[in-house]
Amino acid sequence: MKVYARTPLGLAQVQVPRGQVYIIPERCKGCEICIEFCPQAVLQESEAVNAKGYHYPEIVPGKEGACIHCGFCTIICPEFAIFSADDGELSFLAGRQA
Ligand code: SF4
Ligand code: SF4
Repeated sequence: MKVYARTPLGLAQVQVPRGQVYIIPERCKGCEICIEFCPQAVLQESEAVNAKGYHYPEIVPGKEGACIHCGFCTIICPEFAIFSADDGELSFLAGRQA
């Protein structure tokens, strides 16, 4: 079935914040919720483990500038092990890699 979707008017002019992601590996319990639900797919499971033996998240190589500082990972992490901060830059949403 073909799905028809309209591109929102003015999408090319929409700018979003750029976030800097901070991960605290020793707090992480490896639940992967942040990885699963990041809307920009910024995170992946690391090869390394923390002192408790959990694989913590890391930034996907090449996606260092893809975080939009939505704060979702901060809200859903049960261990307060990840957060983002606005790095003060804005960039156009159109053309961003999700
Ligand atoms: S702030 Fe949003 S876009 Fe950035 S890593 Fe967290 S969930 Fe992903
Ligand atoms: S949501 Fe928190 S505890 Fe779960 S993998 Fe991400 S950083 Fe670790």
